Amino acid sequence: MLQLITILNRCHRFPGFVYQTARFSSDHKSIEIAVRPRKGSKAVCSRCHQPAPGYDQLAERRFEFIPFWGFLVFLLYSMRRVDCRHCQAVVVEEVPWADGKRTLTKAYMLFLARWARRLSWKETAEAFRTSWDKVFDAVEHVVTWGLQHRVLGQIDAIGVDEIQYAKGHKYLTLVYQIDLGVTRLLWVGKERTIESFQGFFTAMGKDVISKIVFVCSDMWEPYLKLIRENCSEALHILDRFHIVANMNKALDNVRAEETSRMKREGRAPVLKKSRWLLLRRSENLGAEQHFRLRDLLRYNLKTVRAYLLKEAFQQLWEYSSPAWAGKFLDEWCRQTMRSRIEPMKKIARSLRQHRELILNYFRAQKLLSSGVVEGLNNKAKVTMRKSYGFRTYRVLELALYHSLGKLPEPDSTHDFF
Ligand SMILES: [Zn+2]
Repeated sequence: MLQLITILNRCHRFPGFVYQTARFSSDHKSIEIAVRPRKGSKAVCSRCHQPAPGYDQLAERRFEFIPFWGFLVFLLYSMRRVDCRHCQAVVVEEVPWADGKRTLTKAYMLFLARWARRLSWKETAEAFRTSWDKVFDAVEHVVTWGLQHRVLGQIDAIGVDEIQYAKGHKYLTLVYQIDLGVTRLLWVGKERTIESFQGFFTAMGKDVISKIVFVCSDMWEPYLKLIRENCSEALHILDRFHIVANMNKALDNVRAEETSRMKREGRAPVLKKSRWLLLRRSENLGAEQHFRLRDLLRYNLKTVRAYLLKEAFQQLWEYSSPAWAGKFLDEWCRQTMRSRIEPMKKIARSLRQHRELILNYFRAQKLLSSGVVEGLNNKAKVTMRKSYGFRTYRVLELALYHSLGKLPEPDSTHDFF
């Protein structure tokens, strides 16, 4: 008869320890497996990771293992303390199946963390009859290990983005690697400040930073300054995604302002429910929406003129020569400056001011996977939604690294699928 202990020895075996007995708990809802040290094997100090002479033994602890066939599974073990000469202290031993004070075994944490990438954290907790906090623990363990063991290597291109994570201007700064072959989240920073963004350069180290060739970012002046200071050799690019996003924001301001003005003046609410019609690219509209848009465009409104300017601007991205793109850009800015629509004029002024950085987009176009920052930004938003429950900075940081960081995973004795 195949016994539980035989199976455990096959998939979760550690040389210094033996599985002694397996039995049901008194309520028959879980299985408890007693573990003891193998005779003659020395405990390992958890501080210096060296074997050390024993001191005493603590009360039995329960380590949660991967549940199976509807039973929770626990390993029961009394931790030894060692009298470590090297550390000159009495220290709790280190056991290979657990990580410090965490109550889940490493195998179970890796198992839960993998599911937490596919399901929301809440769903993961429910599916395996555990708590949200334990899923958090599991992801934290796996991400911490991954960050300690990841290899940065040569990074050619980075993209900087920010994302709002809570009401009241709470932003995260995200830095992605956007090389043609590798795209991943490199760094998450709290808030959108110079100090937080400087943290990225410090964390990566001069060696990695100095070899960066392209930097894509928004036009936010403090970012631009830091990038110039830290990556003086790199070509700085204002990428399409951020420019389009700013333009949409300006158009939306024009629409909102005009809508309320028309309401005040008691005019027909022709702009009602036009927001998505105007912000979406026209080729992404359905037949019915096309019809409504065409109807809307007949009106002589500021919003309509701003929309037409925005649509005309799309042609910029068709150019492959920086010189021709530059001519187009100048002409568009000239027209827009005469439009008497302040939010659009503001965009034109800023585009003029950053003309060279925009043209860098065309200079680097063939070397970057374009649209990649936008894609990663969308994934980051989905991740934030899936980890919800407790939308604190730490939770989001972990969730983002976990799903976008392409981090290495801790070693496992077995593939527990
Ligand atoms: Zn020690």
